[in-house]
Amino acid sequence: MKIGIPRALLYYRYHVLWNTFFQELGIETVISPHTNKTLMDAGSHYAIDENCLSSKLFFGHVSALEGKCDAVFVPRIANYGKDGVMCSRFEGLYDMAVNTFRDHDIDFVTCNVDIQQKCPEEQAYVMLGVSLGASEAKAREAYQKSYQAWQAAQKAHIAEEEARLHDDRIKILVVGHSYNLYDEYIGKPILKGIEQLDAVPICSDAVDLKQAQEDSLNICKSVPWIMSRELLGSIAKYHNDVDGIILLTAFPCGPDSMINEMIIRRIKDRPILNLLLDSQDGNAGIETRLESFIDIIRFRKEARL
Ligand code: SF4
Repeated sequence: MKIGIPRALLYYRYHVLWNTFFQELGIETVISPHTNKTLMDAGSHYAIDENCLSSKLFFGHVSALEGKCDAVFVPRIANYGKDGVMCSRFEGLYDMAVNTFRDHDIDFVTCNVDIQQKCPEEQAYVMLGVSLGASEAKAREAYQKSYQAWQAAQKAHIAEEEARLHDDRIKILVVGHSYNLYDEYIGKPILKGIEQLDAVPICSDAVDLKQAQEDSLNICKSVPWIMSRELLGSIAKYHNDVDGIILLTAFPCGPDSMINEMIIRRIKDRPILNLLLDSQDGNAGIETRLESFIDIIRFRKEARL
C-alpha cells in the first residue's frame, strides 16, 4: 500500500512523526512536490475563496497526489484538551477534502485526535494503524517510535536555531506557522530574502511546545488556540535576543489577525513588521518592505554604537 501525504499544513509540524509511523508499519509514503505556481493555482481552484492561503495550498497538494497513491492521509485534529483548541480548519480538513474531491479518483485515510471527546493522539494513531491492517501492538509500537523520533527532531531543530543566536549579524525572529515559514513558494523566499540582506532569520517553531505554551502566558493569558500560544511563546523566548520581529501570516487567517494585532500593541521594545501572504500578490512588494525594515534596524544599531 502507498499512502500520499500532502506537503502542506501540519505536514511541516509532524512530517517526522508521520513518515516514521508509516515506515514502521511497512507502508510506503509519497509526499506531494514542493509548492509551485501550478499547485497554488490548483489550490485556489479547489478551495472556496474564504479559505486561508495555507489551506488553499493544501488542496493543491491533495490534487497533486491523485493517481500517485492508494489513499491520501488527512488527519482530523480538533484539540489537545480543553486548553488546546486547534484552528477549526484542522478539525474540518478531512471532511472538506473528502467532499472537495468526491468526484475524483482519490481515497482518504484519517485519524481523529480529539481529547475533549476522549480520543487522545496515541489512540488515534493506533486506530489508524489497525485500520491499515496492523495489529494493535504493532500500531502502538509504531506510534511510540514515531513520537520519539519527532521529539528528537524537534530538539535538534531548537538547538540549531539557538546556535544562530550567537551570530553577530542582525537577527530577526520570524513568527509564523511552520507550514507558512517553510513552504518553498510562500515562506522560504522570505527566509532567504532575510539572509540575502545579511541578517539571520530565527524561526518561531524552534521552541519546546509545552514550554512555549506556558511562556505565552507572559504576553497574554486568554488565547484559545494552541498554535497561536506557541507563536507567543516563541516571542517570549527569543525577543530579547533578536533585533526585530516579522509576523508572517497567510490571508485571511482569523487567529493570526487577532494575535498579531495584540502582539503589535504589547511588544513595544522591538520593531515589528507584519507581512500578509496572499495568493493574488505572491511576494510582490515584500522584498522592498523587508529591505526597508532591515535597513532601519541596521541604521538604528549603528547609531547606538
Ligand atoms: S491558523 Fe490561520 S493559517 Fe492556519 S489553518 Fe487556521 S486560518 Fe489557516
